[in-house]
This record gives sequence, structure tokens and C-alpha cells, in this order.
Amino acid sequence: MPYTYDTSNIFAKILRGEIPCDKVLETEHSLAFSDIAPKTPHHVLVIPKGPYVCYDHFAQDASDLEIADFTRAIGQVCAQLGVSPGADGAGYRLISNAGRDGVQEVPHLHVHILAGRNIGPMVMAPP
Ligand code: AMP
Repeated sequence: MPYTYDTSNIFAKILRGEIPCDKVLETEHSLAFSDIAPKTPHHVLVIPKGPYVCYDHFAQDASDLEIADFTRAIGQVCAQLGVSPGADGAGYRLISNAGRDGVQEVPHLHVHILAGRNIGPMVMAPP
């Protein structure tokens, strides 16, 4: 599936340093920052630095290095937040919305790390 990446999206502006973010972690290929409208006590977004629209785009076109870096960055943020269940943390939920039905607002791949309270049911019934 060919993707067109919109360089004017807000996360691209964060990556270019045009707007600020509350940085949580930066690695060679990834950036993590606090969500501006947190839905849970911990709400961190992890994004790749490369121009990928969504998860399947990333899985298709990113290098093995980028994929490994991104995956490890997510794990590192969970450890930093102290929410990893294996380290006696209470757990977390990862969400990556894609496209219209996924209700993706920002067309740059991001994984939400939600934690700090019971997150509730996985999917709400449609209205
Ligand atoms: P999604 O619906 O999965 O595309 O989520 C986009 C997320 O980006 C939302 O949770 C927003 O609150 C968040 N967001 C939008 N603008 C910013 C920003 N400038 N800094 C941090 N988070 C943002």
C-alpha cells in the first residue's frame, strides 16, 4: 500500500523543532513526549522520526534499525514511567490509531502509552 506523508502535520513540526514538546525520551530514530491532552495520569506518545503515516506503513517501509529502536523506545518509556507489570508496576495500554475507522487525528505514526489508572474496557460500543 503506497502512503503519502503530509509534512505539515503537528508531529512533523515537533520533530523539526518548530513547536515545543514535553520530551520524555529521545533515541536515534524515535521521540517520546507527553500528550498535550492526557487521558490518563501517564499519557505518553512515542513516534518514529521517519515519515510514516501509521503502523502498517512503518512495518512495510521502515528499516529493521528503525523498527527495533521504536519498539525498544516504547519499552524504555514504560520502564521510565514505572508501569511495567514485571517490575511491580500496575500495567499500561498501548494504542495506535490508524485512518478513518481508527479515528487517527495526527497522520504521523504514534503509539499512545496510557497508564496510571485502570484504563477500562478495550473498546467502547459505537454510539
Ligand atoms: P490520535 O487520535 O491517535 O491521532 O491522537 C493524537 C494525539 O495527539 C491526541 O491524543 C492529542 O491530544 C495529541 N496531540 C495533538 N497535538 C499535540 C501536541 N502539540 N503535543 C502533544 N500531543 C499532541
